Amino acid sequence: MAKLPILTLPDPVLRKLSQPVERIDAEVLRLADDMLETMYAAPGVGLAAIQVGVPRRLVVLDVAEDDEQPQPMTLINPEIVALGELTRLHEEGCLSIPDFRLEIERPASVKLRYIDRTGEQHELTAEGLLATAIQHEINHLDGKLIIDFLSPLKRDMVVRKFKKLARTESL
Ligand SMILES: [Zn+2]
Repeated sequence: MAKLPILTLPDPVLRKLSQPVERIDAEVLRLADDMLETMYAAPGVGLAAIQVGVPRRLVVLDVAEDDEQPQPMTLINPEIVALGELTRLHEEGCLSIPDFRLEIERPASVKLRYIDRTGEQHELTAEGLLATAIQHEINHLDGKLIIDFLSPLKRDMVVRKFKKLARTESL
């Protein structure tokens, strides 16, 4: 396994629409393993393939608490089929937007369809942090970031800050 570099704001690749995974081969499985290693090292609870520059509908997650056994999940071509009516407020961070957090209200439960590493299709009802994380990661697959929940003015301020930071780092 290998740790991969994570793309950060304002990298335009993060805005790309990810395409479905057509075939689960060794390359896809290795990418999923590398993404898990990258996510654990960050550390984070979720990572989408586009965040390491691969525009495919592939997500890894692990929302286990620190004192629990790891629960790595690989979701291939995940699709939300239903959203719960209740909402949940959570302060979200994003590995592509370092040192930025935003409280976001999203549906508290989701029904999800996805393909696992063996190619088998599953349906899953998720609640709590898992429901939040799944929605966050599927947003990535559609080129959407948590700053899109801000007003355009506030969003521009965050983007400007990261552009400035990127310029400083490249000096
Ligand atoms: Zn993110």
